[in-house]
Amino acid sequence: MHAKVVVVGSLNMDLIVRTPRFPVGGETLAGHGFATAPGGKGANQAVAAARLGTTVAMVGCVGGDAHGAELRAGLLAEGIDCSAVAKVPGVATGIATILVDDAGQNAIVIAAGGNAEMTAERLADHDALLQAADIVIAQLEVPMATVEATLVRGHELGRTVILNPAPAVGPLPAHWYGLVDYLIPNESEAALLTGLPVDSPETALQAAQRLLEAGARRVLVTLGSQGVLYADGERHMHLPVEPVVAVDTTAAGDTFVGGFAAGLAEGLPLEAAIRLGQQAAALAVTRPGAQPSIPHRHELPA
Ligand code: ATP
Repeated sequence: MHAKVVVVGSLNMDLIVRTPRFPVGGETLAGHGFATAPGGKGANQAVAAARLGTTVAMVGCVGGDAHGAELRAGLLAEGIDCSAVAKVPGVATGIATILVDDAGQNAIVIAAGGNAEMTAERLADHDALLQAADIVIAQLEVPMATVEATLVRGHELGRTVILNPAPAVGPLPAHWYGLVDYLIPNESEAALLTGLPVDSPETALQAAQRLLEAGARRVLVTLGSQGVLYADGERHMHLPVEPVVAVDTTAAGDTFVGGFAAGLAEGLPLEAAIRLGQQAAALAVTRPGAQPSIPHRHELPA
């Protein structure tokens, strides 16, 4: 199978505890409930692209534990090519411990585990996937050297390179901008990358213009219920959304990125690909969990 979309990134098991409030140091609290759900930005974006109708290959690492086996099996069940999802013995699979309080706020601690083993050397072993792909997607939950190698190789091969600079870690290396075709930050990431406040389509445009000056070719800032701001060197547009009541926004951004990539892979025009990502993300926020919340194409309006 030649996957049109290759995602290089993280796989995490989300360990979700509902709690009346967040504990303070040294305190033990009784929570309301516990659930596990497959997550990790890379895997979420791979699942979104697959459910929204394109062929996908995942490049990543899990540990030798039960979580790793479950995550891999989950991706395989979506029809995702997992030939480049390595099992690294003696290492824990990446986890995200997520506390959700009664106000719906969350506090998250991530232990990278196997994701830290996703090296540039491992990526090079799977160069054939990049060679066969149309679109390459990266985020920032694997080592920066691996992200860099993904962008460099994707660009060299003339693939459409998408970077979702999440989670926000600080400024990006300046030479990355020119390697990326679509840079997709959310509000806080756009703010962190530019030093500008971002909370509206207007401020997102200012940030996008700053990113274009830095060398980015096309920027999409996701603005939650305010939709998406798109800008390139020639034009810009705000694509609003019909706001929905969010139950759990986990993976909203990932669903947008995967859906947008699926749209591009299908040959949709830019605006239609953005709409596909938006429609999918709007549905995802009405459901709990990361991967469980991501919709299939048949659930969306035609
Ligand atoms: P998260 O980190 O929680 O996964 P994010 O901050 O990366 O999310 P957002 O910008 O919050 O991503 O959301 C991504 C996209 O999801 C938005 O651009 C929008 O299209 C859609 N979306 C998010 N929240 C809503 C909402 N309340 N109503 C409708 N669409 C929404």
